[in-house]
Amino acid sequence: MTSQRTRERLVGRLGDAGIRDVHVLNCIRQIPRHLFVDEALASRAYEDTALPIGYGQTISQPFVVARMTEIIIRHGIPDRVLEVGTGSGYQAAVLAMLVGRVHTIERIRALYDQTRQRFRALGYSNIRHRLGDGFEGWAAAGPYNAIILTAAPTVLPERLVEQLAPGGQLLAPVGDSSAQELRIYERQGDEVVMQSVEPVSFVPMLGGVE
Ligand code: SAH
Repeated sequence: MTSQRTRERLVGRLGDAGIRDVHVLNCIRQIPRHLFVDEALASRAYEDTALPIGYGQTISQPFVVARMTEIIIRHGIPDRVLEVGTGSGYQAAVLAMLVGRVHTIERIRALYDQTRQRFRALGYSNIRHRLGDGFEGWAAAGPYNAIILTAAPTVLPERLVEQLAPGGQLLAPVGDSSAQELRIYERQGDEVVMQSVEPVSFVPMLGGVE
């Protein structure tokens, strides 16, 4: 159920669903998603679906991970990326195969601890991660060429926009639990230009650490 064939089937499905970037598809092909979920769910890891990771959180649907990753690299490969919402670490792992360095923040200590061990076991050397409130960002390691939120704020967090490098883009699901849309915010000089991508459904972005 976690064989290369089941992975190929997922890659085929994502291609049919409109994911075109071969680099992104290759990451999905190579990264062992079954090692980012509980063993009891491993047999479902190559279905195109979100799965529970405990603490009321989910590992994102592969299609959504692929779509967001395509957007992150659409203008070229960013050197530095910030992710808010480490969760299982899967999105960070996909990005780490493509970009220079990934910084990622998680607010739930138990998930942070679990994912630390996972990153260590799988040997991702270009991921830096920490326990913290993503609303604050991670200014010391910035500015970032791209920032990606994998939990949904109701409005764009200004502190994060401040941590974007010139020309950088911030990708975020924005809205409440009933209606969210994926948005791209691009920093162009003093202006931030917004583009709406498509309706999405993410867990809410919450403040503080627990
Ligand atoms: N990228 C993850 C998706 C996990 S779900 C993956 O690939 O598995 C979103 C995650 O965002 C959850 O783990 C949740 O705890 C976290 N989160 C929500 N609000 C946050 C905040 N303010 N700062 C950091 N993490 C946050």
